[in-house]
Amino acid sequence: MDGYLSIAIDTPLRRLFDYRPPEGMAAGSLVPGQRLWVPFGKRRTIGILVGHQRQTSLAEHKVRRAFELIDTDPVFDKVLLDLLLWSADYYRHPVGEVLAAALPGALRKGAGVESIERSWLLTPAGQQEAESLISPRATRLLALVRTLRESGSDAGMTAEALDVALPGWRDAARNLIDRGMVQQVERRPSKNSAQTGVRLQGPELGEAQRAAIASIEANLNGFATLLLDGVTGSGKTEVYLSAIETVLATGKQALVLVPEIALTPQLTQRFADRFAAPLAVLHSSLTDAERLAAWRSAKSGAAGIVIGTRSAVFAPLARPGLIVVDEEHDASYKQQEGFRYSGRDLAIARAQRHGVPVVLGSATPSLESLARLARPGARAPSGHLVLPQRAGAATAPRMGVIDLRQHAANQGLSTPAMLAMRRHLDAGGQVLLYLNRRGYAPALFCPGCGWAAPCPSCDARLTVHRQDNKLVCHHCAREQPIPAACPVCQAPTKPVGQGTERIEESLGAIFPGVPLVRIDRDSTRRKGELDAAMERIHSGAARILVGTQMLTKGHHFPDVTLVIVMNADQGLFSTDFRASERLAQSIIQVAGRAGRASRPGEVLIQTEYPDHPLLQQLLAGGYGAFATAALKEREAAGWPPFSRLALIRAEATTEEPPMRFLAAARRIALPVGRKVSLLGPAPAPMQRRGDRYRAQLLLQAGTPSPLQMFLAAWITQLEDLPESRKVRWSVDVDPLELF
Ligand code: ADP
Ligand code: ZN
Ligand code: ZN
Repeated sequence: MDGYLSIAIDTPLRRLFDYRPPEGMAAGSLVPGQRLWVPFGKRRTIGILVGHQRQTSLAEHKVRRAFELIDTDPVFDKVLLDLLLWSADYYRHPVGEVLAAALPGALRKGAGVESIERSWLLTPAGQQEAESLISPRATRLLALVRTLRESGSDAGMTAEALDVALPGWRDAARNLIDRGMVQQVERRPSKNSAQTGVRLQGPELGEAQRAAIASIEANLNGFATLLLDGVTGSGKTEVYLSAIETVLATGKQALVLVPEIALTPQLTQRFADRFAAPLAVLHSSLTDAERLAAWRSAKSGAAGIVIGTRSAVFAPLARPGLIVVDEEHDASYKQQEGFRYSGRDLAIARAQRHGVPVVLGSATPSLESLARLARPGARAPSGHLVLPQRAGAATAPRMGVIDLRQHAANQGLSTPAMLAMRRHLDAGGQVLLYLNRRGYAPALFCPGCGWAAPCPSCDARLTVHRQDNKLVCHHCAREQPIPAACPVCQAPTKPVGQGTERIEESLGAIFPGVPLVRIDRDSTRRKGELDAAMERIHSGAARILVGTQMLTKGHHFPDVTLVIVMNADQGLFSTDFRASERLAQSIIQVAGRAGRASRPGEVLIQTEYPDHPLLQQLLAGGYGAFATAALKEREAAGWPPFSRLALIRAEATTEEPPMRFLAAARRIALPVGRKVSLLGPAPAPMQRRGDRYRAQLLLQAGTPSPLQMFLAAWITQLEDLPESRKVRWSVDVDPLELF
């Protein structure tokens, strides 16, 4: 008896499946990470081998036989497979779905691991005698012969090249292959990246940059977590580029993770300009074919550098040398649905398994990453690489607050802010206004009776979108026309509060004729709109920039000299323990857009709470002072990073079942001891969203392992609870959002 295969299948079941090896194959000849076609219920599907088993818990005759092996080379190597299995455990997510999430769609459907290039060329007979063998009237055949001959390449021509040179060539090729004048050859592209080295030199590096690079290079031979903590514009990207140059020179690959944002192309371009080595780029807007091609070149090692968003943390690497996580604090590294992993945290886990360093870069490091540096007894080397100053001639912007209690805002803009705008515009600078609220106004009120337009599906108000003349729910995307009058008392309604659309409108009146560009999700929805807006900013055509969070991330706007934070108060009094961290990060990030070139910058923050400690810390001591204070608060309150959390969420179309399910979950959790505490169940802060009622149960433990041990046993029991059948539920380990 040769044993069984443990196979992962893309289903929501939290288990593996036993199979016999395909007919005529020994189980032991198969390697974990290989794909197989297997029977599953009545379907034929793809499974991934994760291990072997001497025995099966099924009755012998019930174990089905896999149909056939797909791969010679496994889709996941040992390290990656190990990382994925560990992630499935850690995040308590069905293993088949975890493995599927790590593969491009084409590979989930059976595409091959290796790319095979097909090309067509003339046989010796075709070379010498084609003209005498082919009738002069067969012009299409003769045209193909001529095209292949004139290509002058011994390797022949690819289908892509022939499509361009001679549309409709395939019939002719088939005819000539049958007659022995043309042949088709297949070859595998070379495994080593053809070129290394630098195409374009970077700037002369500063002292702090050189020190940071030296620290990274000193750690290239093993696992280390290095925090590159550099103020905005300090030249962090130059540090990555330089360290990567060294990695490429030793024949290894670098994996660079970037947040899920529009600036991927800009960063990619900087890498492409700098290095001769080919890049593989992985992000959400690729076609299946593009994603597959990038995956293959990462896996074969043809790509020296692999750049991608969150899920690129699972990109295969032939010769890993370094992992970089740019803007490591960014919330988009956390997958918020399905397999809820943190791309940043998995980058660290992966680097450890490969024995390579990981560089986490940010101007506003997450409190998790800062705390990691301080943790006594950390087993692996860690380092805090600091770039305290802006690169080149740029200086740090001056920051100040405008007290909205003294200077009433007109249409969201106070007089001092307006005067500052005038001054900067007159001096030829660009001005950026940051407001993290898209649409025209966050609510539609009735002054007569106090009615506010509610979303019929959520516990939320509808946002007024004047441009589309609609009320839109930002939580469930429901839309409806703007009512002409209050449905209760018939009085005329009034939009209340400020959104980016409204600011755009008022600025048009305050600064007539000054060209303005608005950047938010609505203004950049169509393809090309964001590029066009960026072009207007960079060319200087636009003088005023209004935007949401989209404007705060990474962009380099050399002519912006003034940044106005329209309203800092939304994040000051939130119940979410991470709100202050997020607010501080976005203020510092948006402030970082000011004065990035030779012109000095100014940042003005409008607030009704100028004495709030958070703002005071930021103004007096920058992000570092804020982070130190915030870490103390977290420690006192026992929140992460000084504890670990997991959140069980449940939802249903009626109010009762989620609470009932979570109460039952809590009941069976009672005998767990004191190391894990349970808070709840409670209705979610926004209980009803998209016509579903939501509730949650929070788990907290001092350290990861008791929480892990507890979850491992408990989650499987939850599946068996009868109450679980009436709800949709999920588990979120290390949640970023507590609702
Ligand atoms: P960060 O990633 O920290 O925001 P970048 O690496 O993008 O910073 O650098 C900001 C700007 O400063 C870029 O235009 C970059 O080319 C330039 N820069 C970086 N390092 C230097 C340097 N040592 N000397 C001059 N300019 C530099
Ligand atoms: Zn009314
Ligand atoms: Zn809604």
